[in-house]
Amino acid sequence: MDTWKEFVSERLELTEYQLARRRTYLKIDLDILTENVSILKSLCSQNTDILAVLKGNAYGHGSIEVGKHLRDIGVRHFAVASPWEAIELRKAGIESFIQIFGNACEEEIPDLLEYDLVPTVGSVEFLEEWALYTQDSCPNYLLQSTYPDETRRQIVIKVDTGMSRNGFQPEMLDDVVNYCDEKGIKIHSIMTHFAAAWDNPQFTSLQLETFLNVAAKYRSRGIKLHAANSAGTLLGYGTELDFVRPGIAMYGLPPGVYLI
Ligand SMILES: *Cc1c(COP(=O)(O)O)cnc(C)c1O
Repeated sequence: MDTWKEFVSERLELTEYQLARRRTYLKIDLDILTENVSILKSLCSQNTDILAVLKGNAYGHGSIEVGKHLRDIGVRHFAVASPWEAIELRKAGIESFIQIFGNACEEEIPDLLEYDLVPTVGSVEFLEEWALYTQDSCPNYLLQSTYPDETRRQIVIKVDTGMSRNGFQPEMLDDVVNYCDEKGIKIHSIMTHFAAAWDNPQFTSLQLETFLNVAAKYRSRGIKLHAANSAGTLLGYGTELDFVRPGIAMYGLPPGVYLI
């Protein structure tokens, strides 16, 4: 026996300790993540895609590792809360669609354009500023992005159907879409967010109905629709739309609090 380290390593399983370089570490079973995604997909209509939520460092699971794994199993759409989280993913080589959930503000536009990120828009002020920056005549360095033009400079329009956090009021949607058309702003999708999909089925149905009443007609021109978070997906609200946006359930946790 040459060294004490060899002596010790023969007796102990050191691999994980060596990886983490400390005793406490979190071990994520990526096969279970794969399985959870396919369970969530199986609850949706055949053409519904997963928009995987990686905010909050993938709910503490490591957004880069989780993002890469999801990409490798064919997930092509991601979302985080703020641009800097998305920039981390871009720098780690994740080139897929990334939506920023946080209410988009004008100060973020340079990063959004440079890193080809998709803002969630709920205010006229942002839209006006975005229109200025994204016009082809706009002589700014941001137009030098290497991302293909078809996928660049898209937005997601958010409609507030009862979450009351942000988004346009439903009756404003037509005007907002018209404004985008006028300014040549590309609309990737229109979304809403459920306030209590796990515990309030009546309110959730009402939110979905309000949303579809104003947004459904835009599907025929290729604008996608999405509404469901984990609870919505598990309980079947919005699972026939173009995307579902699971976070917590993808990581194997229930969307509600259980008291045992
Ligand atoms: C966080 C978030 C989700 C995911 O919510 P879960 O309950 O974790 O599934 C979906 N959509 C939006 C807009 C969010 O902010």
